[in-house]
Amino acid sequence: MRLNMNLDQFDNLFKKEPSFRLKQAKKALFQNLIESWQEASVFPLNLRKELEDKCPINISAKDFISKDKDTIKSLITLKDGLKIETVLMRHKDGRNTVCVSSQAGCPLGCSFCATGKMGFKRNLDSWEIVEQIIHFSRLLKKKGGKVTSIVFMGMGEPFLNYDNVISAVKILNDKDGFNLGARHFSISTVGIIEGIKNLAKESMQINLAVSLHAPEDGLRSRIMQVNRKYPIKSVLNTVEEYIKETKRRVMIEYLMIRDVNDSDEMAEKLASLTKKTLSANNNLFFINLITYNPTGIFQPSGTERIKKFREILEKNGISVTQRFRFGEDIDAACGQLAGKQI
Ligand code: SAH
Ligand code: SF4
Repeated sequence: MRLNMNLDQFDNLFKKEPSFRLKQAKKALFQNLIESWQEASVFPLNLRKELEDKCPINISAKDFISKDKDTIKSLITLKDGLKIETVLMRHKDGRNTVCVSSQAGCPLGCSFCATGKMGFKRNLDSWEIVEQIIHFSRLLKKKGGKVTSIVFMGMGEPFLNYDNVISAVKILNDKDGFNLGARHFSISTVGIIEGIKNLAKESMQINLAVSLHAPEDGLRSRIMQVNRKYPIKSVLNTVEEYIKETKRRVMIEYLMIRDVNDSDEMAEKLASLTKKTLSANNNLFFINLITYNPTGIFQPSGTERIKKFREILEKNGISVTQRFRFGEDIDAACGQLAGKQI
């Protein structure tokens, strides 16, 4: 059996080689998208053999394709046998977005999220995050396409694994390798304050998205336990600081759950709350309304309700977008990733 991808020794192994070898290896791995080091014909045989032994690049994945073929969910088996899910969304205009996981499971247990329900296994290391992108890049190469954006909206809370998430972005951003511009990355967080503060200091222009989902602490704590530690006011004040420092636009995510957080009153509250805290800096925020994907407990809001909710926000001068739903039939939509086999 071939070993699963393990690039822990990658940088180390090239320390003894002339510097151009590392460049060649990155080109082979990220641009030519080789699937075995034997294909790296620029390398002498003994180096290829050493790479095969110490840095296997075989990805063990099972792909599930949605009926409309726009979404592919892959169940990847990591080097220690743990399984994670990752999703490719193919847009009609040719863009390809990968929704990556940053943790196996999630320790935060939000009540509406399937990942939260499965509990927490461990943080992914940076190469395990990168592996998800390489997998889909290989697949897209065969169809003449490439990955054009990456969102940290798969399993896990990226800011509870901050260092590995940022290292993964750096690896993928590297000009000699995958070379994807920082603006094409987005990180979604429940509002881990330390993470937002650290991201503001990064030199890379990564996009930030914050999962708010409720305009008042009582309700937010009920559906997201993490609100007890990071309540709305402190999260939004940190976002305000972030906007002031970076001048970057932030996405506020809001799940539309029937009869829970989708009333006219909630829309008015959400409008005044965000305007009060976030509008001082030229309205550098917008609200993304997300259709709730059923995971057992709640029901999604109806189309008319979402329309009315949106109108109230817009009447208050707030920019609103709506998230298109991908891959529901293969349990690949937001919040449905739980590492189970269909
Ligand atoms: N842990 C991070 C990132 C992963 S979840 C976070 O929570 O932000 C990515 C997005 O999917 C979040 O906005 C999350 O609230 C949302 N989500 C979770 N469960 C969902 C569901 N059942 N339907 C739709 N979106 C969901
Ligand atoms: Fe974790 Fe995000 Fe799911 Fe909450 S919504 S349980 S933070 S992955």
